[in-house]
Amino acid sequence: MLLTITPEARTFAPTHQYAPASAAVLQKERAAKADGKTMEAAALGNEAYDARRELYDRVELVTGVPWYWSAAVDQYERTISKAKPKARAALGQYSAVFVEHERWAGGLNPDQEDISPLSIRLFGGIGRDGDGDGAAARSSDFDLLYSLISFMSSYGPTESRFPAGVWEYYRNSRAVQRIGQFAAIYSHYGHLDLFQHAFPLPQGVSYSYRDTWGDRRGWGGRRIHEGTDIFAGHGTPVRSTCYGIVESKGWNKYGGWRVGIRDLNNHYHYYAHLSGFQKSLAAGQIVEPGQVIGWVGSSGYGKPGTSGKFPPHLHYGIYSDRGLVEWAFDPYPMLKRWEQSERKR
Ligand SMILES: [Zn+2]
Repeated sequence: MLLTITPEARTFAPTHQYAPASAAVLQKERAAKADGKTMEAAALGNEAYDARRELYDRVELVTGVPWYWSAAVDQYERTISKAKPKARAALGQYSAVFVEHERWAGGLNPDQEDISPLSIRLFGGIGRDGDGDGAAARSSDFDLLYSLISFMSSYGPTESRFPAGVWEYYRNSRAVQRIGQFAAIYSHYGHLDLFQHAFPLPQGVSYSYRDTWGDRRGWGGRRIHEGTDIFAGHGTPVRSTCYGIVESKGWNKYGGWRVGIRDLNNHYHYYAHLSGFQKSLAAGQIVEPGQVIGWVGSSGYGKPGTSGKFPPHLHYGIYSDRGLVEWAFDPYPMLKRWEQSERKR
């Protein structure tokens, strides 16, 4: 059995202590700032987005598969490579597609570095020559993406059957769900630049939070706290922190009324203990940073409708999908960063 942990099976309880920022917290903040700079430096300029989009459009021209499917597959590959950088060294320049030698050339191919489209095909490899230079090059952005999209689109009409091809390629239903979600986001906005963030509560309202990562929880057995509690008045608007798609909405016994939103980094943003949802919010809906999704409350810790067992607050957690398992990570440094950048606006 593969170990699959979903956020829904986890913990969500508030803490009720306040403490001044400790040395450890300050250290974390400094690390987050440094990390933020690195991320900014590595952040894509428009040129890289343009290069990627050109690649997706070229694949569409040759395969007939709409660009947003290429964008979604490429972005999914990128998130998996970020989670496993050692096992998945970058092959292309703009595309993040990673294919093992064996899979590219074919398992029984004696030449694992084979670039001949004919013998690769003979040995059942997925490598294809997309750009027509005679070589199925594992280092070519176009050949890499073209090979995957050709494979995935070979199971029938794109509109209905592309997800079946995605499943055949990954043999993993999470991958199918993610790529479908990413394609929906890209197709909705029509462009690739969708990584801005917002603080979950509007600036100007009163709230408080501290780093509660790993605190012991009081309800539901021995669990640790995976998230940040932001204390605010009942009914304070709760906003999406990212561009994403609503993955779950409804009741769970720990989180109460909760919303889960998936973004293009393959992060699952979890908003719990809400008093209610924005009326039109539905699973599958596309949201953007700052968009109101619900209101702060104190729901949770029991059967549907249970409320008032703790002071109103937003429990906010982020989970990273690494292909087969999801890991919680501390959202506190990111919250600090988003808050600061909104204050500067
Ligand atoms: Zn919490």
